[in-house]
Amino acid sequence: MTLTDSCPNCLEPAIEPVAERHRGPHVVHGYRCPRCRHQWATARLIAAYRNTTRKAA
Ligand SMILES: [Zn+2]
Repeated sequence: MTLTDSCPNCLEPAIEPVAERHRGPHVVHGYRCPRCRHQWATARLIAAYRNTTRKAA
């Protein structure tokens, strides 16, 4: 899954993550804006994105 984000600095939309890290129940995406080079990270709860995951057989 690819979760894009908007730059909090210059509001450039649809930026794709350059790094993904799992930290407990969260997944942390690192972003770098191609326009202003601002860097930030967004942590999301993995459980909130499980809708498309199939149940284990
Ligand atoms: Zn930016």
